[in-house]
Amino acid sequence: MRKNYLLTPGPTPLPPEVRAAMARPIIHHRTPQFQAVLKEAAEGLKFVFQTKNDIFILASSGTGAMEAAVINILSCGDTALVVQGGKFGERWTEICKAYGVTPEVLDVEWGKAVSPAELEKRLKANPKIKAVFVTLCETSTGVVNDIAACGRLIKDTPALLVVDAISGLGAIDLKTDDWFCDVVVSGSQKGLMLPPGLGFISVSPKAAKFIEVSKSPRYYFDLRKAKKALDKTDTPFTPAITLIIALNEALKMIKQDGLDAVFARHRKLADATRAAAKALGLELFAPLAGSDVVTSVKVPSGLDGEKLVKTMRDTYGVTIAGGQAELKGKIFRFAHMGFIEEFDIIIGISCLEKVLAQMGYEFPMGAGVKAAEEIFLK
Ligand SMILES: *Cc1c(COP(=O)(O)O)cnc(C)c1O
Repeated sequence: MRKNYLLTPGPTPLPPEVRAAMARPIIHHRTPQFQAVLKEAAEGLKFVFQTKNDIFILASSGTGAMEAAVINILSCGDTALVVQGGKFGERWTEICKAYGVTPEVLDVEWGKAVSPAELEKRLKANPKIKAVFVTLCETSTGVVNDIAACGRLIKDTPALLVVDAISGLGAIDLKTDDWFCDVVVSGSQKGLMLPPGLGFISVSPKAAKFIEVSKSPRYYFDLRKAKKALDKTDTPFTPAITLIIALNEALKMIKQDGLDAVFARHRKLADATRAAAKALGLELFAPLAGSDVVTSVKVPSGLDGEKLVKTMRDTYGVTIAGGQAELKGKIFRFAHMGFIEEFDIIIGISCLEKVLAQMGYEFPMGAGVKAAEEIFLK
């Protein structure tokens, strides 16, 4: 017998309402019944994105929405500024290169947030920059970037601000309109409490003009086709019907709680996780810019970080994430995003303590759980 606990930064656990919605009989998508589903999804997404902009729902993972962003607003030979402070910033660079867009890379030390002053300097230095790609929560390092500050710097320039909010949306604040985000992309399997399979992309009126003139090759992700369909409450291809029905359940839950309550819950879960790590004598990887979405923690020297994650998962059924690329074995990432509550954190911390103890790491047993409980009691 084995119970499993998922504390990874995507996929995240599914609420029972979402799972039940996916068990409903399938319906046809060119029907008034499905149009009602699409209409509800559009309204719910606008609420979560905090925008009046159009939002397109794609049958893809989050990366599909990233690719859609690049090809619909930029053309071969264009230049874009990419904020690159981890694996997911690098993905923007790779997609740009795949389509002949020249990425000007603003390298940020992994574990730190982008400096708005640096961004402004780079933007001013190259008037050819047509778009700036930034990651809301750089999931590979746990860092949250100041999107509001980026928006203030970019809004009065000819460039677009494109935000990867795949792991932050529905968990931490992102005011698409008030922060002047022209394009925001997200995915279903992180803060939105759904399985993988949906990509989302919002488009501001400023960005819509870019879409009209882009010369990039595009077919499945052509947002001109998607816009024509959206205006008729339709989709250009067969949508992921079941996932969109489930999306409405998840959006309903977020709406019922209210965005502020959802963000406050994530803040508390993150505070408890950070406090627990410190109480165990562990060091946070991003102490100054840690997100409320995922907490990255340095593996103590002399300990095998990959073994730690593997033992928690394979022996005790608690899945957290290890480090990626250059951080492999050096950090572990403890996610607290989506359908996660206080006692999920307690279980995760308790398991972490058990495995740390078994691996010979010395600390006051129970200190992590106690520190988390103290945050939750506040
Ligand atoms: C998960 C994630 C992605 C990749 O999304 P997929 O759904 O795996 O394609 C991109 N960016 C960030 C910040 C993420 O957290």
